[in-house]
Amino acid sequence: MKSKAKVVVVGGGVVGVSALYHLAKKGWSDVVLIERKELTSGSTWHAAGLLPLFNMSYSVGQLHKYAVNLYKTLEEETGKNVGFSVVSNIRLASTKDRMDEYFQYAGVAQTIGVDVKFLTPDQVKEIWPLCNTTDLVGAIQHPEDGYIQPADLTQALATGARNRGAEIYRNTNVVGMKQTKDGWVVETDKGSIECEHIISCSGNFARQTGKMVGLDIPVIPVEHQYIVTEPHPEIQKEKKMDYQRWEF
Ligand SMILES: Cc1cc2nc3c(=O)[nH]c(=O)nc-3n(C[C@H](O)[C@H](O)[C@H](O)COP(=O)(O)OP(=O)(O)OC[C@H]3O[C@@H](n4cnc5c(N)ncnc54)[C@H](O)[C@@H]3O)c2cc1C
Repeated sequence: MKSKAKVVVVGGGVVGVSALYHLAKKGWSDVVLIERKELTSGSTWHAAGLLPLFNMSYSVGQLHKYAVNLYKTLEEETGKNVGFSVVSNIRLASTKDRMDEYFQYAGVAQTIGVDVKFLTPDQVKEIWPLCNTTDLVGAIQHPEDGYIQPADLTQALATGARNRGAEIYRNTNVVGMKQTKDGWVVETDKGSIECEHIISCSGNFARQTGKMVGLDIPVIPVEHQYIVTEPHPEIQKEKKMDYQRWEF
């Protein structure tokens, strides 16, 4: 492990590795990342990887747009498949108020160049015959929405960062961060690193890493459930038909 670096990123989830990748891409090659276990072993490992562009904020919308464009080029750059599938996304409205929200959203989407389409209940049924469209007012569709494999994305970003000179230290726990007159010292269970900047991307551990620099970070983890089911024959049938539609 190095004893000096320009930047130390703490946490090897998708956020930390992406920060490392982007610093390296900007030409900051003297950057390192420290992860207590394996890359993605925090929340990133559990994420479904849905990439919904639907967002009422101009700034966050821009970030989403940037990310989706990056995911399209990352495989070519790193040789790693990130499991990015653009399958579109349909949001249903069963009340007029919800539909109004979609109309308002469409205005925001237009200003940031995100494509949206409005669908009638019959069009929804045509796209997804398993949908119960009774009492549906309408829907909004994002043709560019999709999903990605978060762990594969993180590994691709790590490859991109390493290719530009960044280093990643796994199974290394950050136990302290001390400010000095020249910058910082990051203490780990495997030694210390002097650096100019620390970027803390410790996810659910933000309270603990915050405490190391005297901050009381007001965040708490919330439960986020997911269900794993057996394959459903009706859904599998639809998927096969979808692929056939693509082949034509
Ligand atoms: C069930 C579920 C489904 C989700 N679905 C989606 C989805 O569909 N779409 C979406 O956009 N988001 C989704 N998310 C949210 C997404 O997973 C998180 O927003 C994202 O993974 C957070 O990344 P992160 O890098 O900030 O945190 P993490 O992935 O948790 O990474 C933090 C890392 O820091 C490390 N660390 C902590 N303390 C230290 C220390 N002292 N020293 C060294 N390393 C340390 C940890 O080991 C960990 O690896 C979902 C989350 C869950 C749980």
